[in-house]
Amino acid sequence: MKAYAKFCLLVVVLACGLTVFVDGAPIPPDHELRQHFPSLSNNDFAEMTNLLDQIKQVAHDRFYGKDSVAVAQHSTDMRPSVSISIAQPGVQVPISRYLFEGDILLSPLQANVILRNLLRVLRKNRRRRSSWPALKQLITSSSMLLSRDKRSLYSSEKARWKNFPIQYTFHDSLSVDAVTEIGLAIDYWMNHTCLTFEKVSEPERDYIEFFRGQGCYSMIGRVGGRQGVSIGDGCERTGTIEHEIGHALGLWHEQARPDADCCIVLEPDNIINNFISDFLQRSWEEVLTYGIPYDMGSVMHYGSTAFTNDWSKKTVLTRDARYQRTIGQRERLSFYDVQVINKAYCPKHCDIDLPCFNGGYTHPGKCDGCICPDGFGGIVCDRHEQPKNAQCGGMLPALEQWAEITSPGYPHPGYNIDQKCSWILRAPQGKRVELEFIDRFQFFCTTTCLDFVEVKASADVKLTGFRYCCFERPTEAVVSELADMIVIFRSTVSRDVGFKARFRYS
Ligand SMILES: [Zn+2]
Repeated sequence: MKAYAKFCLLVVVLACGLTVFVDGAPIPPDHELRQHFPSLSNNDFAEMTNLLDQIKQVAHDRFYGKDSVAVAQHSTDMRPSVSISIAQPGVQVPISRYLFEGDILLSPLQANVILRNLLRVLRKNRRRRSSWPALKQLITSSSMLLSRDKRSLYSSEKARWKNFPIQYTFHDSLSVDAVTEIGLAIDYWMNHTCLTFEKVSEPERDYIEFFRGQGCYSMIGRVGGRQGVSIGDGCERTGTIEHEIGHALGLWHEQARPDADCCIVLEPDNIINNFISDFLQRSWEEVLTYGIPYDMGSVMHYGSTAFTNDWSKKTVLTRDARYQRTIGQRERLSFYDVQVINKAYCPKHCDIDLPCFNGGYTHPGKCDGCICPDGFGGIVCDRHEQPKNAQCGGMLPALEQWAEITSPGYPHPGYNIDQKCSWILRAPQGKRVELEFIDRFQFFCTTTCLDFVEVKASADVKLTGFRYCCFERPTEAVVSELADMIVIFRSTVSRDVGFKARFRYS
């Protein structure tokens, strides 16, 4: 290309911002939405975007006042680095204004219910001054108010997939890496649920079309006809794709659960103003939890710095600080992520329920074994999970005297990439396990741990535990609520020293 032509192209790009040109014709930012989500008619699309703007405007005005940066100008307040987890790339600016909570494309009905409920709570609070406590109450009280709302979203039967296998196609735009990782993500869903998927060239019913859009995003639940799941650049990771498929199966984000106040607190001063509406909670009418508790390790959870205006500042704080680096993980579905789908889609799939231990349950897709909480293994979850790429782990008694465990290769040469160990530490009946880290402690350091040692001390061993990484050795001892403590070592991206811990009963 001659220098003059290059200059002209540069001028066009600069003049038009991020608008893409093909054969001289501009492609509007929402082009890929219209192309890959045909169930949204032009009217639907206009209604949805209008409602989404209203949701943003109402939440924004309510909290920051009308004199602050207007939502209409919000594109200038957006940064390319906006994302909901460090382990999940953000969508690109042209598309992000059409999405809710960073990676959800709402239907008009969903947007309508969210706005209606937001306004209802505001009316109730209209005498209150605009302040964060008021908005916080707005957010938290919405779940109570909405319990009278009979319309539902995820809980809607219409949003469930009815015909199996769920058919899907690959759009030509996908990279080879994306196709590989989508296959792995689908395999994980199939290996842990009764759900089946089938790649087809000519779909015969409602289906998913994976395509390479401007980021990772999806609609919630089955929409009807062809519905896209965007796996854009940087999204080609199994856990991230499992997350997006989770949305397509009907999962909302974990921190949007009506009971999120149990476990997290928001830091509104650190949230980019125009994304305050992305921290609203759903109502009990919109969400069916099947009695499954809030899980910090859900692959559907925001990370600590979701929508932050400063990457050194957190927007989501965990009430128990030991979970701070657990939230936002995108390695894979948690035990409870899988179980909520199994409860929704796979009830009574097996003739016989196996006697599974430690919170496991009969695998609804195979019926010849149990699905075990992380750290447990064996056909009926009565032993520790087999190690990966290392000789480590085990079921160890906690005695009166201290005993020690370490990560593989500790401290030299240290742990390697893609290893896993699981220990079940068991105190005598009526006693508890006390564990403390000693000597050197060093893990690859990230806001959400990618390499870590996890301690499950809760009475509910199905919950994800505290994940520790970075360079500061935790100084506080951990004591289990019951006689068992589960310790898991996991490395996914790096090599480092690892940990050493000692334990006994108390
Ligand atoms: Zn999401």
